[in-house]
Amino acid sequence: MTARPALLWFRDDLRLSDNPALRAAIDRGHLICLYILDTSAERRPLGAAARWWLSRSLTALSEAIAAKGGELLVLRGDPAEVLPDVVERTGSGYVAWNRRYDSAAIALDKALKATLTEAGTAVESFNANLLNEPWQVKTKTDGPFKVFTPYWRAVREGGEPAAPLPAPARLSKATLPAALRKRILTVADLALEPTRPDWAGGLRESWTPGEDGARHRLDAFLDETLAGYREARDRPDRLSTSRLSPHLRFGEISPRQIWHAAQAARQAGNTPGSAADVEKFFSEIGWREFSYHLLFHNPDLASVSYDRRFDAMSWEKDKTGLRAWQKGLTGYPIVDAGLRELWQTGWMHNRVRMITASFLIKHLLTDWRAGEAWFWDTLVDADPANNPASWQWVAGSGADAAPYFRVFNPVTQGEKFDPKGVYVRRFVPELAGLDDKFIHRPWEAPASALKQTGIVLGRDYPKPVIALDFGRRRALDAFAALRSE
Ligand SMILES: Cc1cc2nc3c(=O)[nH]c(=O)nc-3n(C[C@H](O)[C@H](O)[C@H](O)COP(=O)(O)OP(=O)(O)OC[C@H]3O[C@@H](n4cnc5c(N)ncnc54)[C@H](O)[C@@H]3O)c2cc1C
Repeated sequence: MTARPALLWFRDDLRLSDNPALRAAIDRGHLICLYILDTSAERRPLGAAARWWLSRSLTALSEAIAAKGGELLVLRGDPAEVLPDVVERTGSGYVAWNRRYDSAAIALDKALKATLTEAGTAVESFNANLLNEPWQVKTKTDGPFKVFTPYWRAVREGGEPAAPLPAPARLSKATLPAALRKRILTVADLALEPTRPDWAGGLRESWTPGEDGARHRLDAFLDETLAGYREARDRPDRLSTSRLSPHLRFGEISPRQIWHAAQAARQAGNTPGSAADVEKFFSEIGWREFSYHLLFHNPDLASVSYDRRFDAMSWEKDKTGLRAWQKGLTGYPIVDAGLRELWQTGWMHNRVRMITASFLIKHLLTDWRAGEAWFWDTLVDADPANNPASWQWVAGSGADAAPYFRVFNPVTQGEKFDPKGVYVRRFVPELAGLDDKFIHRPWEAPASALKQTGIVLGRDYPKPVIALDFGRRRALDAFAALRSE
């Protein structure tokens, strides 16, 4: 151990276990744990729901570090300036971080590595949040993959991921110069949580951000939900998936940890999940990996259509339709339930993400970027790779995307995946009294049935914002025109 302290810069890796940069820094010197709230205009600001999550996650991390004898230093500003300043003031001889993969973060890290190295500080970066680095998985011709199935086959042929690292038993604390200590903020000083109005009640009820919350969520999933995952994962009316996405987004748990916990639970007979359930679950983790692969090789994934033919698309600029969609007031119950679930809890079931995104892009012929931006602001798991990759997948502009002629019908999708209307009734309570037969098509309910439940369409619940046949035909024409370009 050297006399100079070692600095660990936390970013999207808010955990102590399976944290390779933390492990490396501990081995190098007295530890300084740092988080910088990035306020630079160079990088996409976090959405409001993600800021709430970050606040809670940082609090949990700070408490976990303190419980082991360390301290999390919190600062705000442009990391390009703040980090070298902290390194200089503390005399740190070594800096470690875990990698991020969006182009702005890569550019920042590169520049920082050069600056710090030149000033005589050793810098190391690690992979903590993916099973494979995006550049490691290659086609036979040494290029990036464009299709998921061969990508995932190549990953699976690479064998099992490395075993996760344990959390350190103890953490040390470095002494800070007084001038720096004065600048240290609390998590509350970052003002990441909404106050006026405080709209985060539903988020607080739904989630426990932080490493312990993530572990608890994983254990509950393995015990209760993994069995039957393969079949049930499309059902929004049940607890059918892991809900680990925001924990993964903020690096409170790693895919390696999830992978090995699922394998161990099954081998020990502790989970009733079958091999097929586990394999399906792993392949969903695989889609996350694939999204990062796409983001790394297509840095503009959130702003530019992967298929450039989509640049010629004549999207509608229907602000009223977009507003109705955002508020969950389209008149299509499964779409409205999804957008209200999102608004209330900061999360939406995957099947419903696909239905709502398809409705916006296809029926309302609205640019996928408008939906991506709304999700970015309202999802607690808003992810720089998964969000744009998934929006482009639904639009048909992405890699290995859904075919352009696939237009989800929100009525039949609702009837298939929420057959008793349990999900709709939970998030669209004004329809709760409607018969199952009409729960996904209230405009077809006879006046007497509506009257019985006290609903007047157009007053208590909207009439459909668009006729499905018209929207579908308009979309097919517009998308077909692109294909012939
Ligand atoms: C329009 C649209 C936008 C989306 N935006 C995001 C986003 O911002 N952040 C995000 O994490 N996911 C996003 N997804 C993917 C997916 O909907 C969520 O990852 C999933 O619903 C999270 O729930 P879960 O953790 O219970 O998933 P599980 O089914 O339990 O899956 C486990 C993990 O695998 C990953 N995963 C699962 N499905 C997908 C998928 N289709 N693509 C990529 N990774 C997947 C997630 O990390 C997830 O936590 C989006 C999907 C669509 C259709």
